[in-house]
Amino acid sequence: MSRWVRLRGPTGAVRLGRLLDETRVQLVRGDLFGLTEDVGEPELLSSWTLLAPLRPSKVVGVASNYRDHAAEMGKPVPASPRIFLMPGTAVIGPDDAIRIPPDTQRVDHEAELGVVIGRTMRRVPAEKTLAHVLGYTVVNDVTARDFQRSDGIFGRAKGFDTFCPIGPCIATELDPSSVSVQAWVDGELRQDGTTADMVFDVPTLLEWISHVMTLLPGDVVATGTPAGVGPVRAGQRVRVSVEGIGALENPVVDRSDRAVERPTEVGGAGDR
Ligand code: MG
Repeated sequence: MSRWVRLRGPTGAVRLGRLLDETRVQLVRGDLFGLTEDVGEPELLSSWTLLAPLRPSKVVGVASNYRDHAAEMGKPVPASPRIFLMPGTAVIGPDDAIRIPPDTQRVDHEAELGVVIGRTMRRVPAEKTLAHVLGYTVVNDVTARDFQRSDGIFGRAKGFDTFCPIGPCIATELDPSSVSVQAWVDGELRQDGTTADMVFDVPTLLEWISHVMTLLPGDVVATGTPAGVGPVRAGQRVRVSVEGIGALENPVVDRSDRAVERPTEVGGAGDR
């Protein structure tokens, strides 16, 4: 089991590393999707800033993939997966702020298991899908619930900059079939589910999605959220976690809508 991270150092350089424990990281050079080699001695994690563990070309979301969540949304359990796309510009990392735009009345957290694609997938049968997976991460599929309802489609509700926190790491060799998925707001437990309750499990989702679109290395599939979604507001702190991977925490702030002309603001992390 490796836990891969992407970090920014004191000089601003962005590096890849492997978590050794909760306080130490081993920097590596190379390519997460190819070969890596260790560089130097382990370093203290506290000298580095964790970024989103990767910049996906696309994030594929899955709607209503837990029966209890479908029920709380008043939706039927779908007969086949319901998918949508989130832009890479929505992705932020650990401790980056989720910025609530001024014109929405309700923004919800959604704790989810994220699948990180390791090898190009095109029409892959379910039993071969997991061999194409690099690892697993935690996704908070932040949603402007009022826009989801009023628009009827998800592009705006889930597409705002900062609405897709991902991290803190990519854990390899996780069995995704039965791990707990949780969310807390200011320390209060809001969601407490298990991937064992998914309507469509990870191999089924990957087979189905890869028959629609080619999945590229670094793409992320957000596999849906269990019951307990609820609102967050400025000043709160939201924490989502998946057993065996870790916890992803983000503060929530109100977005100022003065003009933003510096594209480094997009995605929050300012790392590209
Ligand atoms: Mg979701």
